[in-house]
Amino acid sequence: MISEAEARAKILEAVRPLPPRKMSIADALDLLGAEDYFARLPLPMFDNSAMDGYAVVASDCKKGARLRVIGEQPAGVDRKLRVSNGETIRIFTGAAMPAGADAVVMQEDVTRNGDEVVINTDVDVDEFVRKRGCDLGEGQKILGKGDRIVATKLALLASQGFAQVSVGGEVRAAIISTGDELAKPGEKIQPGQIYDSNSVLLQSLMKRSGAVAASAGNCSDDSDSLRAAMQSAAKNEILIVSGGVSVGEHDLVQSTLRDLGAKIDIWRVAIKPGKPFLFGQLGRCFVFGLPGNPVSAFVTFLQFVRPAILRMMGANDLDLPKIPAKLTVDLINDGERAHYLRGKCENGNFAPIGREESHALFGLSQSNALLRIETGESLKAGEIVDVQIWE
Ligand code: AMP
Ligand code: MG
Repeated sequence: MISEAEARAKILEAVRPLPPRKMSIADALDLLGAEDYFARLPLPMFDNSAMDGYAVVASDCKKGARLRVIGEQPAGVDRKLRVSNGETIRIFTGAAMPAGADAVVMQEDVTRNGDEVVINTDVDVDEFVRKRGCDLGEGQKILGKGDRIVATKLALLASQGFAQVSVGGEVRAAIISTGDELAKPGEKIQPGQIYDSNSVLLQSLMKRSGAVAASAGNCSDDSDSLRAAMQSAAKNEILIVSGGVSVGEHDLVQSTLRDLGAKIDIWRVAIKPGKPFLFGQLGRCFVFGLPGNPVSAFVTFLQFVRPAILRMMGANDLDLPKIPAKLTVDLINDGERAHYLRGKCENGNFAPIGREESHALFGLSQSNALLRIETGESLKAGEIVDVQIWE
């Protein structure tokens, strides 16, 4: 049995970022940037009005001043107009500032009479003018290599005229859920059977991590079926097998992998839940064997599979987001494995929730955070702890 840190290091050493690809910004949401991007245009691109109103020379505009309206400047085309003392130009939000104008008076602050407006307010230089480059200057970094491409980053790329973006490689993943006891949701269930909940759990976690769920199938506990299923799944970048990695006579995943010539790099990690976790390579495919108990599958996915997927996709940040929270109870880990406790993080507090047992799916379904307690560690109620947020 190796430590969690050793297991993680081994996995992250084995997996490598996949070759990047170019794609439309419309399809790049939640992927990782594969190169640095820099602004090639300033934002705003030209001085423009922040309001519907009147472009003026500020020094002209004492309260009560009367100005002659000499033209109109809408957004979309720069009419190259010019304002001089005693004059104003009707202007609209986003329209280019006319030459000579250094402020905009919003339309609510003027009275218009035909070709004349009366200014009902004092006006400062630059008021309601959005200056060229005040938000973003040319050459500033707008997306870093390995950064997640969120909606606002896509908008920023679009604002620079980029229609495509270079993103990290695609990770295609297969899932095999093993167990003679498994019935598919929607099927009639027989005495002794249970519904397969890991397939949908792992597919969902995989999608959230950014991998593509290439296939998901169930397999009974017999070596021939398992062998065939694994052989076919090994064309993907990763294969996740649920169940069958423990030590019982029906746990055939490891022996079948070995028969197929796979290299087993890790089996059994000092983590609770999730001890029988397995990692290996079948040809070019990385194989993750997760224990069948739903909470174990969940925890080992998040601690080992997720970082591997992210690394293959070219991410900088491989960890779940952490936030500080006040513990509501005393906790101690007097066991021999690091313990991941499921809990609810709410209003700055973290409270363990549900039965802390590896089969207890309902408790897991009520949680939104994990607290890792090291071997021998004891924590007191009221202490501030860092918890991993997974939802
Ligand atoms: P195993 O790891 O195969 O020894 O399974 C451990 C426990 O997890 C057993 O109680 C199984 O019935 C349960 N289990 C295995 N696979 C699944 C699954 N796909 N969905 C829900 N529970 C499962
Ligand atoms: Mg089993």
